[in-house]
Amino acid sequence: MNIHFDERLDGELTVIDKAEVLADLQNASPDLILLHREEDLHPFECDGLAAYRVLPMLVAMPETFEQVQTLLKRCHHLGVPVVTRGAGTGLSGGALPLEKGVLLVMSRFSKILGVDPDARLARVQPGVRNLAISEAAAPYGLYYAPDPSSQIACSIGGNVAENAGGVHCLKYGLTVHNVMRLDILTIEGEPMTLGSEALDAPGFDLLALMNGSEGMLGVVTEITVKLLPKPETAKVLMASFDDVEKAGRAVGDIIAAGIIPGGLEMMDNLAIRAAEDFIRAGYPVDAEAILLCELDGVEEDVNDDCATVRRVLEAAGATDIQQARDDAERAKFWAGRKNAFPAVGRMSPDYYCMDGTIPRRELPRVLKGIAALSEESGLRVANVFHAGDGNMHPLILFDANQEGELELAEDVGGKILELCVAAGGSITGEHGVGREKINQMCSQFKPDELTVFHALKAAFDPKRLLNPGKNIPTLARCAEFGAMHVHNNELPHPELPRF
Ligand SMILES: Cc1cc2nc3c(=O)[nH]c(=O)nc-3n(C[C@H](O)[C@H](O)[C@H](O)COP(=O)(O)OP(=O)(O)OC[C@H]3O[C@@H](n4cnc5c(N)ncnc54)[C@H](O)[C@@H]3O)c2cc1C
Repeated sequence: MNIHFDERLDGELTVIDKAEVLADLQNASPDLILLHREEDLHPFECDGLAAYRVLPMLVAMPETFEQVQTLLKRCHHLGVPVVTRGAGTGLSGGALPLEKGVLLVMSRFSKILGVDPDARLARVQPGVRNLAISEAAAPYGLYYAPDPSSQIACSIGGNVAENAGGVHCLKYGLTVHNVMRLDILTIEGEPMTLGSEALDAPGFDLLALMNGSEGMLGVVTEITVKLLPKPETAKVLMASFDDVEKAGRAVGDIIAAGIIPGGLEMMDNLAIRAAEDFIRAGYPVDAEAILLCELDGVEEDVNDDCATVRRVLEAAGATDIQQARDDAERAKFWAGRKNAFPAVGRMSPDYYCMDGTIPRRELPRVLKGIAALSEESGLRVANVFHAGDGNMHPLILFDANQEGELELAEDVGGKILELCVAAGGSITGEHGVGREKINQMCSQFKPDELTVFHALKAAFDPKRLLNPGKNIPTLARCAEFGAMHVHNNELPHPELPRF
């Protein structure tokens, strides 16, 4: 994998000398931790998308606001690109370093600055782990709702940059809906505060813009998040199906019945067997698909909703419905789902996790399309995903040691994303575009739309120094990729399975 630095639109290649940059940064910030020896750089050469690897030129690990500010000012002055990294769990290569760039690792910004139970807010540094916020809020009966499956490790700064989702986001919103205020530094080292502790702010909604901007517009240095009261009770139903499409249809039926579950997740047979083998969650290994449906709130409402959902599931053709008997069993049901990615990882030397979103009503048809692509390519695909949000996560199993399999997996992944676009969906739901899906952006957006994205980027970062080569493809790249914007349900690749 080669990162072409000339994807900065100005096309000007700055000559970057590692020794000079190192000396400059050390001089400007003597206490800043700077890693420069090859053996120290290797741990940072990839994020969760391990198939893409680049050794960074330098790794900076600041601990103070002033160190970040000085670093950005110097890099801006020297014309050195900067890639910000949180915990490095991203799955789209967003924190993939540049061989002629500085990797700015924010993991030492790990302080919870304050929990305000009256205002139901927490102020945190960006390197704080997602789960640590809920742990800090727990003594007050509060929690932070967005719960990516990686929440034990991923940072809240990375969550903001990716607009991360999770099991509970169907009901409680994505990261963008749970962040009140951001303090950021621009590439020029200028501090900006976006949003406030009040519900609305005047001017353009730059807070929303920053959520999901994938480290392209600024470096997040502080975050104020909403906290929610823990629901009085939560119950989970597990429904088995003998057909994946029936399970897909049941998802839409539940929402159409007027219920917004706290979580509504789906797993197909391959994912069920992998999770059961790994976690012993009590899953039915013969089922073609299961739905996990969590209902939370006040006891009486939850009991009514459980009864309604049960009726909907029966009508949709569920072959078996189990309700977790207690909190321990409920936790077990969720543990299987939350560990499904590593569980699938035990079944195959490698797997490639895709992330696309479709309108819920399209679930049965897109699942059928994925099955067709799997059969055609000969690569097994496990489906485990946030069904209520229509956020698919097909896991493509392959063996990188077999010649051509990585390329085949990437090809199947790309075609799955194009299926999502053709179904009226999007090439990402929560993992971002990063480096991985940059070509599929050419299918999702028209050249005029991409030009607007570039203009926005340039308004924050005229020299294109923050995370260049990610997220927004150049028009030249789109021309090279040969993809056109998908319109009228016409796909750029005629060989894709038709709906
Ligand atoms: C097993 C597993 C399960 C996962 N499940 C989910 C899931 O359920 N939902 C979900 O949404 N994601 C999931 N992910 C993906 C990943 O955990 C999320 O994208 C997460 O938000 C990344 O956080 P991070 O701290 O690891 O960020 P990184 O990977 O370090 O970086 C991600 C992006 O954020 C930028 N960034 C990081 N910190 C900052 C900052 N301070 N300022 C500006 N930009 C910054 C980086 O430049 C990069 O573009 C999963 C990953 C794994 C490995």
